Amino acid sequence: MTDDIKTPDNLPENLSQAIRKEGKIRRIVVDRTGCIGARSCAIVAPNTFGIDDQNLAFVTDPDAHDEETILLAAQSCPVLAIHLFDADGQKVFPE
Ligand code: SF4
Repeated sequence: MTDDIKTPDNLPENLSQAIRKEGKIRRIVVDRTGCIGARSCAIVAPNTFGIDDQNLAFVTDPDAHDEETILLAAQSCPVLAIHLFDADGQKVFPE
């Protein structure tokens, strides 16, 4: 169920996001204004993050990798443009 996933306050205006079906990390957000196209997210988690023709990341399949890999992908972003939230809309990463 995705109905009970709370929307976080102050999400970035230009974003790509998707909801995961289960686990602690439920919402994956790419701040596309912050993204510099460094591509490390798409290298760490290639089935969850794609790079579009503007050289900006977007979320493809949020459930394609396990949570550890999603977290690693977010941690690999040099500008911390990937934000992860739990079901209550609380930030999981970056803290
Ligand atoms: S790692 Fe960060 S800066 Fe690089 S493409 Fe992904 S979101 Fe954008």
